[in-house]
Parts: sequence; C-alpha cells; structure tokens
Amino acid sequence: MLKRLSFVFIGFFILTSMIYQPNLNAKHSEFLESIVFPVKNIMSHFYDDWGEIRGNGKRIHEGIDIRAQKGSPIVAIADGRINTISYSESSGYYIAIDHQNGWLSLYVHLDDDINGNDNLGGRDTAFADGIYLGGEVVAGQTIGYVGDSGNADGTVPHVHFEVRYMGKSYDVYDYIKSSWERFERFIKFPKKLGINLF
Ligand SMILES: [Zn+2]
Repeated sequence: MLKRLSFVFIGFFILTSMIYQPNLNAKHSEFLESIVFPVKNIMSHFYDDWGEIRGNGKRIHEGIDIRAQKGSPIVAIADGRINTISYSESSGYYIAIDHQNGWLSLYVHLDDDINGNDNLGGRDTAFADGIYLGGEVVAGQTIGYVGDSGNADGTVPHVHFEVRYMGKSYDVYDYIKSSWERFERFIKFPKKLGINLF
C-alpha cells in the first residue's frame, strides 16, 4: 500500500513538475516585475504574439514585437552588460544585454534608415552613442532605435523583443504589459513615483 502510494506521489510530482516547468518561479518573476518598458514612446503597440507560427509554418515566433514610430528610443529593461551588438541578414541590427542573473534581453531589427525606407543607415542609426560590446548599461538607458532592418524591411517599424533565461526564450507578455502600465502612468501622470523609469 505504502509502495503504491509512493508511486502515486512520485507520479504526481513528475506530472506537476512537467506542468509547472514552463512557468517562472518566484525568483524569476522578481526580476521581471521590475523591468522597464523597452520602447520610450507612449504610442507603442504590442500584443501577445509570442508563440505565433511565422514564415509559412516554418518557425515559432519566440518574442514580442513592439511597434512604434521609426527612430523611437529603445531602452535597457534592466541593468546589465552589452552581450551582443551586431548585424545579420535576418535580424538586421540587434543588441543583447546580459543581466548577469541568468536573464538576457534581446532587441532586434533596429533602425537602418536615414530617410523613409532607404536602408542607408548603419550602426549610427541603429545603436545609441556610447553603446559597445561589454559596456555597462542601466535600466532605462537608451541603447538603440526602433526600425525595420533585416527581414523586417518594409514592415511596420518594430523592435522584436525577447527575454531568455539560461538561453531559453519565455513569453513575458504579462510582465511587458505591467511595465507598459508603469510607463504610461509615469508619462501621463508624472507625479514622483519613487521609482526611476528613465
Ligand atoms: Zn518578432
């Protein structure tokens, strides 16, 4: 009987750990609960498009696209160190910040245009001054600008924003939404909140 019970218990444990594995534990959410909204533009728009099927069914969208006027400042969601600052054909100009607690944030498709949609920009239009590989950044610091570089060329300008823990991407829609609400309150009703958003 006892053996059977322990089997049931172990089975229950395995099942619950399987169910809860994709969720974030308390320690994780502590970091995510204090993040700064990644785009400094009140007219930003996003929805929970994490996990959408893209590329004619070929890939899963492991990020959230935040649409905003081209050139809007993109800011670091938390303190950290620039882990990647680069260009690729598909991502265009992109930046990753290592928050040195297992978390990494990624900002993709930064601005590569000078006028309209000319793709004549470069590192200067994509990245903010003083941003370099290995450099330290603080929460709310401008790191780059919204655009449509890479395979986003000609789409509505947006930053593909992604948060990874130990290399694995998570749907952080709820946390982005909360950070947006703090940002909106700060912009629309700018009383001292006791928190430094920008
Ligand atoms: Zn995206």
